[in-house]
Amino acid sequence: MLKISTDRFSQGLPDPQDAPVVCECDGCGGEIYEHSLVWVLDDDAILHPDTDCLKDYIDPMTMTIEEAMASD
Ligand SMILES: [Zn+2]
Repeated sequence: MLKISTDRFSQGLPDPQDAPVVCECDGCGGEIYEHSLVWVLDDDAILHPDTDCLKDYIDPMTMTIEEAMASD
């Protein structure tokens, strides 16, 4: 049976239900709570430290490597 550790998310962080919301994620638009870990991008975007939020924000295109190299 697969076990997924969530220790790194629960250590040292307050209960999210009690923490005040300080801003919204620029990726998913969800609430970001006080003392949360976040990702900050070059253009000052603030995201949950989650690849889904990063993907939502930068909205990368999927293409073949040939298309990618030809479209420069
Ligand atoms: Zn988010």
